[in-house]
Amino acid sequence: MDSAALTAKAKEIATDYGACAVGVTTVETLAGGPPSTDLEYVLPGARSAVTFALPLDQEKIEDFIGKRDRKAHQQDYSRTNTMATGIAAQIAAYIAHFGHDSVGVLSNEVYRNDEEYQPRHMRPDISHRLLAVRGGVGWFGFSGNVLTPDFGAMVSLATAVTTAELEPTEPLPAAENFCKCEEMECVSACPAAFLHEGKKDMASVTMGGVEFTYAKRRNYNRCGFVCAGYSGLHPSGKWSTWAPGRFPIPKKDENLRDVVVDAVQAWSRQPKLEGGVLHQPLVYAATGKDVNLTCGSCMLVCAPTSEERQRRLKTLQTSGVVVQNPDGSIDVTSPEEAKQRLAEMEPERRALYEPEAGSYDDIDVYGRSG
Ligand code: SF4
Ligand code: SF4
Repeated sequence: MDSAALTAKAKEIATDYGACAVGVTTVETLAGGPPSTDLEYVLPGARSAVTFALPLDQEKIEDFIGKRDRKAHQQDYSRTNTMATGIAAQIAAYIAHFGHDSVGVLSNEVYRNDEEYQPRHMRPDISHRLLAVRGGVGWFGFSGNVLTPDFGAMVSLATAVTTAELEPTEPLPAAENFCKCEEMECVSACPAAFLHEGKKDMASVTMGGVEFTYAKRRNYNRCGFVCAGYSGLHPSGKWSTWAPGRFPIPKKDENLRDVVVDAVQAWSRQPKLEGGVLHQPLVYAATGKDVNLTCGSCMLVCAPTSEERQRRLKTLQTSGVVVQNPDGSIDVTSPEEAKQRLAEMEPERRALYEPEAGSYDDIDVYGRSG
């Protein structure tokens, strides 16, 4: 099969199996990119890659951000990632049939383990995100998430890497990117203050002579602190993620560790959250406990239209605050009632969720009323 036909088939497999967008990158179109665009890291002699986006279930997202149902989105997220991994393997096997070594790269939870980086550094073998924006699967948003034209950031990404010389696809036109980096719903949706708040703090990456920009990220442990579920209360005290912890968010990255260590210890003693887990080996190895999907809000508010993004952000910000019962189940309640219930807990149980008053008086934290 010639290059054009093989490229067409690879794209067809992705879309037939549910992808909403697909793109192809090559060693040439990725030239000059960071190490995570080195296709040979996963396959010696690699020449090109097929990256695609699989949409998440929108109804389940709606129930997740509205705090009506955590489990359904948790399951959908895990299954969509697993399906994306499977499609990548299917594409790789198909291309291999025509005589080209190929490999599918897992959608998530796979990190470099070599002389330079260990899994704890969380460096991906290859970056689906970078390949996706270069190959035209989507644009970079201010958040650094990949925004697809039809489903915004609410997708799973995966990639098949091959020694075949597939034909590259072009990036989407920058002028059509729906993210104008103005309303910054992702910033408002992030309890961890992970994203910078101004357009002056932009990062850029150039691949194959094309430059892409997104907001610089702050210390990745900020996202880990909230996204892994160690703390969930927004600094406003008015809403939370699905995580019942309520440790404060330090303003300075250098103070993060002080709080995160305490929060992880408290979290590891909390009853298991109902509704399923993410099988994340790094956290399990360190704590003996599985992570639950409790945030992802920067992605879940990022729909293609401004009206929808604003509506989702409002849904999130009025979704209430969670309190955990001794059996692990979750009650969603008002900020005031949650505060009252925490105050009524025995000190030993309360310590599972929030630090003693005055614990971090010597640290600058983002404002909190709850
Ligand atoms: S939430 Fe808004 S600012 Fe953030 S990436 Fe999406 S469109 Fe851009
Ligand atoms: S997943 Fe949550 S904590 Fe992490 S950057 Fe997004 S909104 Fe912030």
